[in-house]
Amino acid sequence: MRIDVVSIFPEYLAALDLSLIGKARRDGLLDVNVHDLRDHAHDRHRTVDDTPYGGGAGMVMKAGPWSEVLTGIRESAEPRSGGKRPVLIVPSPAGAVFNQRMAYDLAEEDHLVFACGRYEGIDERVVEWSREHFDVRPVSLGDYVLNGGEVAVLAMVEAVGRLIPGVVGNPESLVEESHSDGLLEYPVYTKPSEWNERPIPEVLLSGNHAKIARWRRDEQFRRTAERRPDLIFALEPESLDKGDRAV
Ligand code: SAM
Repeated sequence: MRIDVVSIFPEYLAALDLSLIGKARRDGLLDVNVHDLRDHAHDRHRTVDDTPYGGGAGMVMKAGPWSEVLTGIRESAEPRSGGKRPVLIVPSPAGAVFNQRMAYDLAEEDHLVFACGRYEGIDERVVEWSREHFDVRPVSLGDYVLNGGEVAVLAMVEAVGRLIPGVVGNPESLVEESHSDGLLEYPVYTKPSEWNERPIPEVLLSGNHAKIARWRRDEQFRRTAERRPDLIFALEPESLDKGDRAV
C-alpha cells in the first residue's frame, strides 16, 4: 500500500518509522511518503494560511499550496485498474467518525493520501476540487477538536496498516480483538497466576478450551454491556450463537 501524508509539521510523522509500521515500511509492505506543505508555498515566508472571508477568528489554509502538492502526488501515482482513484482522507472534527469498519475498508485500498489541516482548516474549495481526482473522505478521530490532523493520521495509519497482511506477525491476534466482532475484547492475564493476592479466573487454568472460549465470550458481553451498551444494541442477531442468547 502507498500512503502519502501532507503536513506543515512533517516531523510529527516521524513516529511512522517506529514499531510495526516502521518495520512494515522497511519490509516493503507500506510505502509511506511525507510531504511538507510549505515546499509548495512560493513566497519568501512560505505562507500557507490567510484570514477567513467573512471575518472571524483564526486563519484558513490557502488553496494554492494544497492543489500543487495534491497534483504532484496524483501525477506520481501508478495508474490504477478500473480508473480507481486514490482515497484522499481529510481529517476533520466535522467528518464521519473513524472506526474499525472504516479501517478494514481502507486496508483494501492501495493508495491513501492524508491532508493534515491546521488553524481553522483547509479552504473548502480544495475539498470540492479534489473530488475530480480523488475519492475524498472527511474523517474525524472523535467528537473533540485537535490542533491539527497529524495525530489523527498517526492513529488511522496504525489502525489501517496493522490490517495489511504481513504487518502483524500473528494474524490470529487480529481476529479476537475489540471491535472485530462488534464486541469489546475479554480481559487478559499473564504469569504469575497469583499476583498481589489476586488469582486469575480459575477457568483459564482448566485446560478446557471450550469452557475457556465460553468464559471469554461471556466476558466480552459483560464488558461491552458495562462500557459500551450502544455496541450491544448494534449487534446483528445472526452474529449470536446459542450460548450468547442465554447471556
Ligand atoms: N475549525 C475546525 C472545526 O471546528 O471543524 C477545527 C479546526 S482544527 C483546530 C485544525 C485541524 O485539526 C483540522 O483541520 C483537522 O485537520 C484537525 N482536527 C481537529 N480535530 C480533529 C478530529 N477530531 N479528527 C480529525 N482531525 C481533527
